[in-house]
Amino acid sequence: MDNMEIIDTEGDVIVTCAEMVSFLVSRKALSLASSKLCAMLKPLIESESGGCLTLCLPDDDPEAFRLFFQIAHHRRLPSPDSPSANLLHSLAIIIDKYRCRDAMEPWGRIWLSQIHNRRRPQEDVWQFVQFAYVLKNTKSFFRYSRELLSLGLDESCITNLGLMPNTTLGAFKEKKQRISDDVQVAIMETHDRFAEFQCAYARSFLADHVTGLKTAGLLPSTAVFKAKSFNQIQRDAKSLRPSSYECAPHGRCRCSGLSGYKPKASLNDGLEKCWQKMGLCLPCFDGYCEEHPIVSQ
Ligand SMILES: [Zn+2]
Ligand SMILES: [Zn+2]
Repeated sequence: MDNMEIIDTEGDVIVTCAEMVSFLVSRKALSLASSKLCAMLKPLIESESGGCLTLCLPDDDPEAFRLFFQIAHHRRLPSPDSPSANLLHSLAIIIDKYRCRDAMEPWGRIWLSQIHNRRRPQEDVWQFVQFAYVLKNTKSFFRYSRELLSLGLDESCITNLGLMPNTTLGAFKEKKQRISDDVQVAIMETHDRFAEFQCAYARSFLADHVTGLKTAGLLPSTAVFKAKSFNQIQRDAKSLRPSSYECAPHGRCRCSGLSGYKPKASLNDGLEKCWQKMGLCLPCFDGYCEEHPIVSQ
């Protein structure tokens, strides 16, 4: 066969994928790596009278299968780099369809951990989320769902829900709303602390702070703020002018209790706390979680 790639020189199965790409592989390796392929090969073995078995899987991506076969046969991979987002998605389909998560998990974990933080479209991040989900990798699922949410969660990129439960979009939207509430609390913190004081010191300091927020587009009630992603909000909060509340003692006013208070640092701490808990918990997402039993209800 012209297009046949030899994964195992002593292979006894020929698998033909899409584009008529074929692979010579070992039945034993396939059966150990995938319970589904093991079950598919069984009737073929019983009906064959010697020679190679042939398995046609015309719907499956040969590039993804090549990686799967190399891993299942303990072969050196052609590249140490993580596969592209699209290839990871094809691999996720294969892992799900052929039930070979255990065989793919060690490599999948490495790939997910070495995708470096650089600018990339939400569509790519969505593929990482799905791959992490199929791999049941809690850490990466949290990390990439957080990245998706921090970029603003463009719902139009959440497509191909075949691998994910139908509650996916709802879970993301609910988390997005919760983040939005937490971010507003962080932004309003200075206002809430100073609003009770009527003295000139506190009022002037608060007025300056609100002007700074407005200039940076960080007033929660404005359209310009509502259009911002979490990443943009965090970036703009870092651009605020630093200030510190200082006042001389005056009468019975208790605002001097806020002496040394730094609105910019406080806001950035608040946003950092939002960031820390921004991803989705995979066990909660799957409907059972020992760590957050109430959230998962
Ligand atoms: Zn005062
Ligand atoms: Zn949880």
